[in-house]
Amino acid sequence: MDFFSKLGDAVVSAGKEVTDRAKDMTDATRLQYEINQKKKEINEKYRALGKKYYSEHKDEKDDSIVGITAALEELHEMENQYADAKGGVRCDKCGAIVARGSAYCGKCGAKIGDIFEDEADAEVVDAEVVKAEVVDEEAFAEDDTEDETVD
Ligand SMILES: [Zn+2]
Repeated sequence: MDFFSKLGDAVVSAGKEVTDRAKDMTDATRLQYEINQKKKEINEKYRALGKKYYSEHKDEKDDSIVGITAALEELHEMENQYADAKGGVRCDKCGAIVARGSAYCGKCGAKIGDIFEDEADAEVVDAEVVKAEVVDEEAFAEDDTEDETVD
């Protein structure tokens, strides 16, 4: 009887240890989550501060400022190329890709620059050239052969 009651105590105390450890684990997991959330919050604040600082100092010759300006210009150029590859133009205000020749952005309503109207005119000229080629069957066949050579 004594043995069993001692065994019982041992099992109970071992069970309590496991429970405590599980609780500690839960606390650690919760704390780790809260630490990660706090780090994210701090990084957001750093980023917001950095953007504010940049917008107030973007004409300065500091290496970090110049580096950000250069990276932003590269990004802008890449986004324009992306819009072009998708067959559209990029809205300068919201960044949405809109169909070439659109007068206004379908997403934010901003007026699309006059440059794009010129591009639309250029496209009409291109379309006429293509039509003329289709009418002239010999020229069309020649183009087809050239395309195959390129491929
Ligand atoms: Zn827009």
